[in-house]
Amino acid sequence: MRIERHRLLSSSLGTARELVSLHYGTPGQGEKVYLQASLHADELPGMLVLHHLRRLVAAAEARGEVRGEIVMVPVANPVGLAQNLMQAQMGRFEFSSAENFNRHYPDFLALIGADIENRLGVDEAANKRAIRGAIGAALAAMRPATELASLRHTLVSLSFDADVLLDLHCDYEAVMHVYTETPYLAQAEPLYRHLGAQTVLLAKGSGGASFDEAQSAVWWQLQEKFGGRYPIPLACFSATVELRGQSDVDHEHAAGDAARLYAYLQHRGVIAGTPPALPAALCEPTPLAGSETLHAPHAGVIAFLKRVGERVEAGEVVAEIVDPLEDRVTAVRATVAGLLYARENRRYAVAGMDLCKVAGAVAFRSGYLLSA
Ligand SMILES: [Zn+2]
Repeated sequence: MRIERHRLLSSSLGTARELVSLHYGTPGQGEKVYLQASLHADELPGMLVLHHLRRLVAAAEARGEVRGEIVMVPVANPVGLAQNLMQAQMGRFEFSSAENFNRHYPDFLALIGADIENRLGVDEAANKRAIRGAIGAALAAMRPATELASLRHTLVSLSFDADVLLDLHCDYEAVMHVYTETPYLAQAEPLYRHLGAQTVLLAKGSGGASFDEAQSAVWWQLQEKFGGRYPIPLACFSATVELRGQSDVDHEHAAGDAARLYAYLQHRGVIAGTPPALPAALCEPTPLAGSETLHAPHAGVIAFLKRVGERVEAGEVVAEIVDPLEDRVTAVRATVAGLLYARENRRYAVAGMDLCKVAGAVAFRSGYLLSA
């Protein structure tokens, strides 16, 4: 294992932050898998999972069983991790820009430029190398101007040439669920089955320029751009893995998840050995555009009537918003049927606040599909 330390652009005199990456195996030999945790810095389950996984992978490396390259970034957001305001950790948005740490990643298709066509031919593997080369050159030429931009740039520079990219997040309270892009569904299936995901949400371009999508989308975008004139693989399978809720941070969950990710690494062939039999899927994937977010119609105390992991029917009451001043109780009903896969962990709602999410099977939304 090799440790690399990447100095981020300092935002202020006398301060310096670094991003630390752990490297196992041999670059260029076999597949490359990239895993990072806690890009939203107040989402900690992944950090503990990578603590367990690095021990498993180090033992495999000592046995000579790492067949590809594995890169781990257990602390993907040292900027957000240090953001505390009056005893509350605030790791989703950067204080100085108010930007979400998991948005505004580069548009790789635009970065590569139109002249990529001159380097494409009939050999799919050669095309993959040419496209990765163009992305790498474009990233190397970028000069980030802020600490946040340098964090994003460092993360994509470590991961853009990965065959598999897993971004470990969590929701407020949630069951295990996975977001990925529709064209990569076949590659996603062994991952979500090994993980025991209870919801799998599919979108093709959700509009947020998130870390994972920015890197997987360019491949299907190039396929569409050239309309089959050149063979182009779906070369970067990426997924956002939501490791349940913010408080689900304990050794039992983390060691189990690390073992499940290790089995997936074996399934991909990056680590030698036969993985456990692929478990049956716990759900059918559903469109992200079919996921309904329920909102508080007015301010009040939230009393949930449904837990995460429960199925709800269309029209069923999921929560009540209680206003004790007006003696008012308002039922909040799902309009779609599906699994209640995530809900808020605060219990006071301001008007309009997101309360919970139901994975419906039928797409009904369009445009920008992610939360803030
Ligand atoms: Zn997150």
